[in-house]
Amino acid sequence: MKKQKVIVIGAGLSGSLLAIYLAKKNIACEIYEARGDMRKEATAAGRSINLALSDRGIAALREIGMDEYMLSEAVPMHGRMIHAIDGATKLLPYSGRPGEYINSVSRAGLNIALINEAEKYEGVKFHFNRRCADFDFKTNEVSLANAQTGEAEKVVAETVIATDGAGSAVRNAMLHGGVPRFDFSQKWLAHGYKELHIPPGANGEFRLEKNALHIWARRSFMMIALPNFDGSFTCTLFLAHEGENSFGRLLDENALLEFFETNFADAIPLMPTLVEDFFANPTGNLGTIKCYPWNAGGKALLLGDSAHALVPFYGQGMNASFEDCRILNR
Ligand SMILES: Cc1cc2nc3c(=O)[nH]c(=O)nc-3n(C[C@H](O)[C@H](O)[C@H](O)COP(=O)(O)OP(=O)(O)OC[C@H]3O[C@@H](n4cnc5c(N)ncnc54)[C@H](O)[C@@H]3O)c2cc1C
Repeated sequence: MKKQKVIVIGAGLSGSLLAIYLAKKNIACEIYEARGDMRKEATAAGRSINLALSDRGIAALREIGMDEYMLSEAVPMHGRMIHAIDGATKLLPYSGRPGEYINSVSRAGLNIALINEAEKYEGVKFHFNRRCADFDFKTNEVSLANAQTGEAEKVVAETVIATDGAGSAVRNAMLHGGVPRFDFSQKWLAHGYKELHIPPGANGEFRLEKNALHIWARRSFMMIALPNFDGSFTCTLFLAHEGENSFGRLLDENALLEFFETNFADAIPLMPTLVEDFFANPTGNLGTIKCYPWNAGGKALLLGDSAHALVPFYGQGMNASFEDCRILNR
């Protein structure tokens, strides 16, 4: 049997997991990633960013033998800790049954562990600093931009699997002529998000309940905080881009502190770098992408966010992306 070779675009969460699944089936793969090797470069914010890993995602990690390793570095979250405006807290358990909870994991830690595991297999090769610009459905050529040399490169694939996230270049090629009658919709929310930080206490202790996903729900906006293994929490503020109570109104330190004092007063003492973090960290956009079909005649396939990006409130984007890989493997 001819040994099949697959080109994977994007070494994020689903691309790295997919490489392991392919290697286990003895399918050689080359993975082209736009960014540098995250094992050698500081992460964007320099601080840990986490995700809720649930049963769907764990099922895939179990199949590749990495569930125990990842869960040993995760913080279980048994419920939502609701922070009322007066500072009162209430835990709403995720389940009445023991053993049913979600887990807070480090995005970078998980991604790095998957890349390291994938690299153990012969036939798996990661190429960093290579951004896919286009895929030609007639010639099977992938056009890449090499960020180190500035040069354009081309590689030919039998099959391309796109795990290049919400802005997928391969999906764009499907949309712009690669696939006839390709359905595509992109819907932005009026809200964006910003990551903030609660450091651990002086002795490395958690300064909020460790085993919970904290939520400061304020009707049209909210802040959440997920625990990290080192005792810190990563907070995410979800807020409209424009209008009353919006990022557009929080343009200086006074406006920011007044907004926090009114809405998240109990969190302020826990956030010594609130002002620096708020003005240094980018404001992200949130949206939903739907498209169809996800494959183009065996030449190209979309997986993960490239096929179905969704807003983070469900905590399902990564989990669904891992499930994509698990079902493809099956
Ligand atoms: C604020 C926020 C919180 C979230 N919380 C959760 C959560 O709690 N639980 C959960 O399950 N999901 C969560 N998600 C969703 C989750 O992050 C995504 O669903 C998941 O990262 C999708 O994985 P992916 O591998 O498909 O894409 P990505 O993780 O986006 O990876 C894509 C990779 O492709 C690379 N790339 C992009 N373009 C190119 C190109 N042209 N050429 C080459 N490489 C390219 C990127 O650099 C990246 O490495 C959250 C998302 C956000 C924004």
